[in-house]
Amino acid sequence: MAIDAEAGPVAGPVAIISAVHEELRALLPELRDPARVRLAGREFHSGQIHGHPVVLVLSGIGKVAAATTAALLIHAFKASALVFTGVAGGLKHGVRVGDVVVAQRLLQHDMDASPLFPRFEVPLTGRALFEADVALVEALAGAAQRCLGRAEALIGAARLAGFGIERAVLHQGLVISGDRFVASEVHSSELRAALPQALAVEMEGAAVAQVCADFGTRFAVLRTISDRADDSAHVDFQRFIAEVASAYTHAIIDDWLRSSAQL
Ligand code: SAH
Repeated sequence: MAIDAEAGPVAGPVAIISAVHEELRALLPELRDPARVRLAGREFHSGQIHGHPVVLVLSGIGKVAAATTAALLIHAFKASALVFTGVAGGLKHGVRVGDVVVAQRLLQHDMDASPLFPRFEVPLTGRALFEADVALVEALAGAAQRCLGRAEALIGAARLAGFGIERAVLHQGLVISGDRFVASEVHSSELRAALPQALAVEMEGAAVAQVCADFGTRFAVLRTISDRADDSAHVDFQRFIAEVASAYTHAIIDDWLRSSAQL
């Protein structure tokens, strides 16, 4: 007899996954009753933030690292929902450095088993697009909107000006992922031509989305735009994460957890 090892609906912790260390470091001091578990080379930090059970973890960079992390969070930590935070390159016209993107749907731009399957489709699933959880997206977008409204207080006017950020805005829509840091005009133009709706490109979100679809787990992806995925994408990357993106992530996650009665 086969035993169905898939868990039924459990009110497990909400997982917050960071791609980069600075973002995790900004969230860790918020954790009450922290406990640490080491698994598969990752440190999982459990505890509570604003009364909600949470688990925080650094995934590492790329789709495989993100997929491993997501599967562990769901299966070993019984996470009830996953939120991936990080930075991304802006693709669509008008998606600028300092803006925030909440993904409504995700796609792996480097998935291509054509001509056996249509380009971008994940073979044998019949789909290329993976939808984020509507309620989570709405709650995170609300928190992001409030935080962008006080960007000057959070980051400082001089710092914002230093990165050329004038009026940061929130975008919601398609985010694409692949195992490649997109850092040339040639490559970003190719992606824009193939996927004109794509707001931003990063390296993990769609992998988390696919794992969550397998398990039936709710998820969302929240990204601060760090670059325009062009030839200057690497310039100031680390400094942007340290000075802008981690402050945004901290403020948005904090606002979201504080203002949510139920997650
Ligand atoms: N030099 C950095 C490299 C980070 S890789 C370091 O050593 O830490 C880029 C990370 O930011 C990934 O997690 C990815 O999801 C995101 N990202 C930001 N801009 C991107 C872009 N233009 N293309 C792809 N991923 C990008």
